[in-house]
Amino acid sequence: MPELNLVLLGPPGSGKGTQGERLNADLHLPYYATGDILRGAVRDQTALGKSAKEYMDRGDLVPDELIVGIIAERIDSEEARQGFILDGFPRTTPQAEALDAKLGELGREVSSVLLIDVSDDEVVRRLGGRRTCEAEGHVYHVEFNPPKVEGVCDIDGSPLIVRDDDKPDVIRKRLATYHEKTEPLVAYYDAKGVLERVDGAREPSEVTDELRGILAAVGS
Ligand code: AMP
Repeated sequence: MPELNLVLLGPPGSGKGTQGERLNADLHLPYYATGDILRGAVRDQTALGKSAKEYMDRGDLVPDELIVGIIAERIDSEEARQGFILDGFPRTTPQAEALDAKLGELGREVSSVLLIDVSDDEVVRRLGGRRTCEAEGHVYHVEFNPPKVEGVCDIDGSPLIVRDDDKPDVIRKRLATYHEKTEPLVAYYDAKGVLERVDGAREPSEVTDELRGILAAVGS
């Protein structure tokens, strides 16, 4: 099997996490979600978490230098030799350049960038209803995926909360940040001929099927 170095691109709430986990189960490639890594660091109150928290709570990106080294280390790890799935990274042009530089050092390159396209209105609907388990980050939605008991995680019984960055004014800020800082990466990767665009407004299983089809072609 050729190596598969994958990037999931799309606005917050486009379903990158859901799709990333499914591809991770399919492909047995390590899945690195920078949002999860950063939230874990905030929970554990590490130095990284302490530096990142104020940016995240505002809906801003954390500075590139806080996140680039973390990803560089992971893609250079033993478990990522056959490839990886990145979710939430790169999110700026300097991050994309740093990823290319790191892969270049290793004699590798990005195999495919999967853009999951969703409108701003749909993002607001999805993120506004999202509820997250306080202990482990398990995710629910008041409308699309409610827990069995309102406000309680089915898996570990801990309270479900609205993440600070899922509050309405912060959602709008995150979308503005996406359009300004991350959307230029669509053209960046398109110019390299590795961009694949899928319509993310459909059922998650339909999106997964389309992604599987694309990757079957990339990996063959
Ligand atoms: P996410 O769960 O991917 O939406 O990420 C949550 C928050 O973590 C974002 O709103 C940013 O504040 C921060 N974050 C995640 N990934 C990155 C990144 N690659 N660069 C900068 N900030 C990031």
